[in-house]
Amino acid sequence: MNKLEKIYEGKAKILYTTEDPSLLIQYFKDDATAFNAQKKGTIDQKGIMNNSIATKIFEYLAAQGIESHFVKRLNDREMLVKRVEIVPLEVIIRNRAAGSLCRLLGLPEGKQLACPTLEYCYKDDALGDPQVNEYHIRALQWATDEEVRTISAIAFRINEILKKFFLNLKIELIDFKLEFGRVQKGIILADEISPDTCRLWEVGTGNKLDKDRFRRDLGNVEQAYQEVLRRVSQ
Ligand code: C5P
Repeated sequence: MNKLEKIYEGKAKILYTTEDPSLLIQYFKDDATAFNAQKKGTIDQKGIMNNSIATKIFEYLAAQGIESHFVKRLNDREMLVKRVEIVPLEVIIRNRAAGSLCRLLGLPEGKQLACPTLEYCYKDDALGDPQVNEYHIRALQWATDEEVRTISAIAFRINEILKKFFLNLKIELIDFKLEFGRVQKGIILADEISPDTCRLWEVGTGNKLDKDRFRRDLGNVEQAYQEVLRRVSQ
């Protein structure tokens, strides 16, 4: 499978067309951004680590009946994915308060939530991915009510699966972001799941094994991603 035309370049990934119109190549970069791209940098080998971590997670989810755009890992930095029409929403699930939820509600970092929460953000870099609700989604026709029901049900199901998956690796899944795409059959999981898109705290120590190390200049960023890769490869 060869890369033909670059059709999208984001902060962490590039998408290329292939000879097959239904398949794309997703290339993982080392670039990292935070705080709506106000902070920019690179994390050495991140693209290689995230490609492998996302592969493991997509394969695990597929075995649990969660369909995604993932087809197969091609090499160090590339995976083959199904072409989808991206739903312009970021779906965030939280098990403990962290990040923007703490800022929004003045909560202490790590506060346990009585049940998981779900937030939608409208995917728009220029606007800083603002939080929206189901009424905005319906009124602006970003997704149908049925699609929203499907997306939220899959997101909560992924949370249950991945909480257990990571706990087995002595990692607590604090929160994460998902994106979804349309294919002929309906809605499937897209994008990536990696330490870029999740908060992952080591059980026992509370050590952060995710992009917060980059966002907050905590040091040992590469080592944290490497540790997640080591554990998910077990
Ligand atoms: O920043 P915030 O606390 O809202 O992030 C919640 C979760 O979603 C974090 O795991 C973060 O890494 C992820 N996220 C993301 N991409 C964004 C916004 C948040 O992966 N654009």
